[in-house]
Amino acid sequence: MTDGQRWSDPHPQREEQEWEQTLRPRTFREFIGQERVVENLQVYVRAAKMRRDALDHILLTGPPGLGKTTLAHLIAHELGVEIVVTSGPVLERPADLAGLLTRLNERDVLFVDEINRIPRSVEEYLYAAIEDFRLDIMLDRGPHAQSVRLTLPRFTLIGATTRPGMLTAALRSRFGILEHLQYYTEEELYEILRRSAGILQISLEEAGARELARRSRGTPRIANRLLRRARDYALVRGDGVITGELARHALDQIGVDGLGLDELDQRFLHTLVVQFQGGPVGVRALAASMGEDPETLEEVVEPFLLRVGLIRRTPRGREATPAAYAHLGITPSGGLFQGKGT
Ligand code: ADP
Repeated sequence: MTDGQRWSDPHPQREEQEWEQTLRPRTFREFIGQERVVENLQVYVRAAKMRRDALDHILLTGPPGLGKTTLAHLIAHELGVEIVVTSGPVLERPADLAGLLTRLNERDVLFVDEINRIPRSVEEYLYAAIEDFRLDIMLDRGPHAQSVRLTLPRFTLIGATTRPGMLTAALRSRFGILEHLQYYTEEELYEILRRSAGILQISLEEAGARELARRSRGTPRIANRLLRRARDYALVRGDGVITGELARHALDQIGVDGLGLDELDQRFLHTLVVQFQGGPVGVRALAASMGEDPETLEEVVEPFLLRVGLIRRTPRGREATPAAYAHLGITPSGGLFQGKGT
């Protein structure tokens, strides 16, 4: 990761995926925050075990990095079954789905990340698979076409999406359990950072942990990223200990501001406030003028800016709030404040 980096990048690189594995909570007890969701899931898991039946299909929604994949693994673990992991864009053809489904055993979990990105042709097959636990496969084409029906084990589909609005109504209605993950509080992120520092054997002082928690964008994945970066900074610039002062320096250095906004968030706000006079403006126009993909803005940037009250949604588009002007150090008339509010 380079400086001025997108700390909110929803797609971890391979190396990051590896160490995310080591930090992933292994039991519900280790999973910090999201109490209501965790409580519900625990009840459903227990009930399914008592009924000796597969758990209902589950849809987990919420911004990237909040723990959807982690929860899917936890559910499988608590059920005492295997989990097969895939993602919407990987399932290009019905045969890709068939290949996975035929690997499942009774009550196993099939986890499909980015489920809103499953191609329509594959989605049709998924309906019968999750509703009736059967799969009709076409062999051959044309006049000799034959369909073969496979009976599948009763399994649980766990779908995850950052964009539930993009799911077809037909697919959404087939999930018996819907749970939405919220951004984490500073206190919860503080706990997560302490836990991660313990596992990675990083010296993290309380003030350092508080500073990182405050600037982690409500997201455990980002908290862990910032922790690793602060650790490197502490090794090179200090004595290896992440103090409050050191965390502040490290975060300033890598372009994460006082609210935890990264380069992309800051550019979004700046474009909205300066180029579009604070809006209202549609997300497509914003994306075009920033040279960014509107989906990334909708999926990653906007939810957090809404949550911290820097923008609001209106029927005519996005609007900057007075807090956004204050944060950028710009007055609504276009002048500069005295100090830059971070
Ligand atoms: P998502 O699937 O929603 O994008 P992940 O489940 O991959 O998010 O979580 C990203 C990382 O954040 C994981 O490696 C995990 O270590 C950490 N994480 C997520 N939620 C929690 C939590 N509640 N407690 C501790 N760590 C968490």
